[in-house]
Amino acid sequence: MRVIGVLGGMSWESTQGYYRALNEGVKAALGGFHSAKIVMVSVDFAEIEALQQQGDWHAAGELLASAAQSVERAGADCLLIATNTMHKVAPAIEQAVTIPLLHIADATAEQLTADGITRVGLLGTRFTMEQDFYIGRLEKQFGIEVVVPDQSERDTIHRVIFDELCQGRIKDVSRQRYLAIIDSLHAHGAQAVILGCTEIAMLVGQRDTKVPLYDTTALHAQRAVAWALND
Ligand code: GLU
Repeated sequence: MRVIGVLGGMSWESTQGYYRALNEGVKAALGGFHSAKIVMVSVDFAEIEALQQQGDWHAAGELLASAAQSVERAGADCLLIATNTMHKVAPAIEQAVTIPLLHIADATAEQLTADGITRVGLLGTRFTMEQDFYIGRLEKQFGIEVVVPDQSERDTIHRVIFDELCQGRIKDVSRQRYLAIIDSLHAHGAQAVILGCTEIAMLVGQRDTKVPLYDTTALHAQRAVAWALND
């Protein structure tokens, strides 16, 4: 089994989900007392969030590149960046290490493609829903058309991620808002919806809606487990 490297803490609330999913994935495959071999560096999210606010993606990239080098030095065979948003600086991180980066958008797109989904809704932070680093990858590398919520819906989704989910607050009223937005994306032709922020599965899940949901935390972890066991 190969060692999975995780760049976590963005936020730590969702990194817990990664830790669980990686271990459950290995246990499901190998049984018994088996668990995942993991090396993790967990950053202080306040530093990252401040750089996001300032738009200083260069500094954020340098900080995460240095953390990724620590992950590699500690013995990881691959690297997961345990957040969709910070894949904005994936090129800087990838350049700083020699181990392969398993990209969260690729893990998601591969499953969408396998399921025959060609038009998908996307929920995530403002950065993920409005910039090219994520949507562009899905569209250009995988030919998947991406539909995003309107401006006021995007504001709501972003606010709930930072003011509630990243701080461990789960509110029913926010769940209902998210479900209404998921329905509206479906009504606009999205065959499925990507939970493109690693905290969203804390709020909504497949049990809440008939619209097919693609949880990036689960798909990213699943991809890493398959990679780790395929040695
Ligand atoms: N975990 C989130 C994501 O998947 C948001 C936190 C962050 O900005 O990294 O995008």
